[in-house]
Order: sequence, then structure tokens, then C-alpha cells
Amino acid sequence: MPGLKFFRSILAGALAAVGLALAPAPAQAADNPMPPLPGASSITAAEQYNILHLYYTGPKVRLTFDDCATQARLTAMVNWLKAYNVQAVFFFTGQCMLAHPTYTSQLVQAGQLMANHSYDHGDYSRMTAARIIDEVRRFGSVIPSTTPKLCRPPYGAGAFSVGVYNALARAGCRPAFWTVDTRDWDGSSAATIIGRVKYGDATTPRVYPGGVILLHGTGPHTLEALPGIRQALIDRGYATFHIR
Ligand SMILES: [Zn+2]
Repeated sequence: MPGLKFFRSILAGALAAVGLALAPAPAQAADNPMPPLPGASSITAAEQYNILHLYYTGPKVRLTFDDCATQARLTAMVNWLKAYNVQAVFFFTGQCMLAHPTYTSQLVQAGQLMANHSYDHGDYSRMTAARIIDEVRRFGSVIPSTTPKLCRPPYGAGAFSVGVYNALARAGCRPAFWTVDTRDWDGSSAATIIGRVKYGDATTPRVYPGGVILLHGTGPHTLEALPGIRQALIDRGYATFHIR
């Protein structure tokens, strides 16, 4: 597989194309590239780091689960997380939480965190600032917010811009991305998902201390991949957040 320097040079090139410099990485991850944020052309490097790492600068790795999940799958995920004392962030949509009114109490009781992934998975980059703010407020009436309120725009970095950033800030949100895109939603096998976390691939850097792993409650093999993801972090000597 290509070396990390290769990834870094590719990412530096992509960032240069949109007028950005690669943001400084923490000392323990100096050989790891950070994914670019296309369109974020006037957000400081430090703020880009915050967006990618959920406003956290320590060494723990965060698991995040997007969109929604069936009751059976959510219960299995929560049970697994509790068994290993792992605290994840669930970025489920407002529609998902309305359709499953017990999810909020289930996640709270399990010591998990919840954050905003829009009301109905709309593309913020196609909305006015007023509409984005309205989306966030509608969602806020559906589930409680974590502090600080993290908002992960649907469709990822491709749907991100300075305008979206500013609208989310006006809505009281801190935009929240990730460092490892497992692409678990596309039917990838558990082994492939685990490999992307541990080694990265042509699309995503591997996990590093302080990194954020993007997973989906709807991923067909996501649940199956969790033990291997945990083992990959152990093999690299990394820790996750613990339920307090
Ligand atoms: Zn999503």
C-alpha cells in the first residue's frame, strides 16, 4: 500500500487546489494526514482541526454513528459499547428520533452522547442560512443537545462551505466532521471496514490518536466490525472515550 507520505502529498495537493494549507497535526500523529475540508477556504487551520476532531485535542479516539438504526441494531450497538465502557456520539437525524421516541432515553441511560445530523438529512449546501438555522432549531425540539452542540452536515465535506459553517455557528452549532471515513454504508465487509480504520486506503487516512471514526447505524456490517475496530485501536495502543 502507498506510504503515509504519499497520502500527505495527495492531501496537500488537494488542499492547495482550494487555497488551503495542511493544518498542523498533533505531535503524536505527525506522519498522518488530515482529510481536507473542500470549500472551507476562510476557516483557520486551528478551526479546521477542531471541526475534524470534534473540538477535542487529546489522544482518545471517538466512534460516531450517523443517520439511524433499527431498534434491534441500536440495542446491539449500545450493548456492545456498554460491555467495553465505550462512549460514542450518535448523529441520528431528527426524523429518526421522532420515528423512534425511545432512542433518546435508551442512549442517555447507556451513557452515550447525541448530536445533530440535521432534521431530515437535507443538503445544507443547497439551503439558505435561514433554512439551515430553522433545520437546527426543529431538530433541537426533537432531542436534547450535547454541550457543546455538535452538528454534522449530511453528505460530508462535499456539502460543506464557509456559508454552511457560518449558518451553523449562528444556530449555536459547532460543525463536526471525522478523520476516518469507513464508508460502512456502502455494503463493505467488516474486514474492509476494519482495514480502513487500521491502515486507511486511497480515500481515507488511517486512525490516529485524537481521531474520529465515521460509522453509520444503517451500515449492514458495522455492528460486525466493532470488535475488530476495537482490536485495531488496541493494537495501535490507542484508547477510546469511556462512559463516565
Ligand atoms: Zn448521514
